[in-house]
Amino acid sequence: MTQNTLIQRSLARVWHPCTQMHDHASGELPLIAIVRAEGAWLEDAGGKRYLDAVSSWWTNLWGHRHPDIVAALKNQLDTLDHVIFAGFTHEPAVQLAEQLCARSGLDRCFFTDNGSSAVEAALKMSFHYWQNVGKPAKRKFVALTNSYHGETLGALAVGGPSMYRDTYAPLLLEPMFAPSPDCYERGPGESWEDHTRRAFSHLQLLLEQHAHEISAIIIEPLVQCAGGMRMYHPIYLTLLRQACDHFGVHLIADEIAVGFGRTGSFFACEQAPPASYGKGLPGGITPDFMCLSKGITGGTLPLAVVLAREHIYQAFYADYAAHKAFLHSHSYTGNPLACRVALASLELFGEGNALAANRLMAQHLWKQTHSLRSHPHVAEVRQTGMILAVEMVQRTGSKTPYPASERRGLIAYRHALSKGVVLRPLGNVLYLMPPYVLTLKEAEMLCEVLCEAVDVATRGAP
Ligand SMILES: *Cc1c(COP(=O)(O)O)cnc(C)c1O
Repeated sequence: MTQNTLIQRSLARVWHPCTQMHDHASGELPLIAIVRAEGAWLEDAGGKRYLDAVSSWWTNLWGHRHPDIVAALKNQLDTLDHVIFAGFTHEPAVQLAEQLCARSGLDRCFFTDNGSSAVEAALKMSFHYWQNVGKPAKRKFVALTNSYHGETLGALAVGGPSMYRDTYAPLLLEPMFAPSPDCYERGPGESWEDHTRRAFSHLQLLLEQHAHEISAIIIEPLVQCAGGMRMYHPIYLTLLRQACDHFGVHLIADEIAVGFGRTGSFFACEQAPPASYGKGLPGGITPDFMCLSKGITGGTLPLAVVLAREHIYQAFYADYAAHKAFLHSHSYTGNPLACRVALASLELFGEGNALAANRLMAQHLWKQTHSLRSHPHVAEVRQTGMILAVEMVQRTGSKTPYPASERRGLIAYRHALSKGVVLRPLGNVLYLMPPYVLTLKEAEMLCEVLCEAVDVATRGAP
């Protein structure tokens, strides 16, 4: 009863995100009223429980209401809730900036309050940097096809998928797009690395021709998440870092979805192999800007940052009269509650124990989904760390996709819900991106429901 009432009231007054509201009203897509959450589980108003396999839109790391995070938040609330961050500073923000710089190898931390606004800030900083150093012609951005960087106009402009972008195209900046290294598109017999290198050669050419007018290139390291969990070989990061140095172009790494351990390393950028695969060489790249959000607070409060290299910061540092300052702000910038929670979340990584546990869990998920790799309607099962994706197709040989109108993903979604699992597919791609605290039993259940959902969704005509 309360469940239905809450749903009715929601449908009457709330405009839900990324949703055709008619789907809810028509019953095509159930709206679910959640009243409580704990660990990897959500509970609805009728007492039914759901395993949160998508980490509440990729935000949650440690399960819901982790006791350390709850305690940190309550504690912080007793001393400082919020304060204007221009002209004022506070311990949680300073500590968080110190720790994120130490972990990323970057030097300066600029706070915003959601992923899109972090991307906006990074784009503006890059553009403004070139103005400040006397190279105003460098004002174009390069993005990869099929990439996603958020919904605000600047962030939307540098995103690829037409579903999100096309309607607003007349309002948007026009970046130059380079082909995604997405290895789902590799040729028969081609290795991930060869395909990735081949994709990179297009970007190389673009830089050779246009570097003089390019401000920055923005990428999602290793996994294009919203674009269907498409993945590529980390050599791309190595080649890109070299090229950006060579051509004098900023590299913006959008780790909003992949940061904080999702890909098996703390940041995805750490997986870039050394330039020449020699022994003993350190891997990993340092971008010029790194955008972080989503998992930054372990999934509890909204927060985002842009980390930047020192020479970028220095280009804005001058006498007031030089008019070089970065005059950009958001009201909730550096919110102490969110920063405190982010620090509690960082602590839960321990001395790399959480990442080691993730790598074991990732292997477990891979094994438990082995039957999908020979499924007649699965073109690919791919995995990078704790992200595992299944590409459902009509025919595997030709990778012929199901027509979008058949909404096979929705069938899988509904089936999984009926079994108590939240899978929110991206079109015909089903994926797991669970919180890090799954038990082996929960992982088993998750994989079982995933396999069933693929069966149900690919059976005959919808
Ligand atoms: C989610 C996401 C964003 C946008 O973050 P919001 O907090 O939703 O604005 C940007 N980039 C990537 C890679 C994302 O996954």
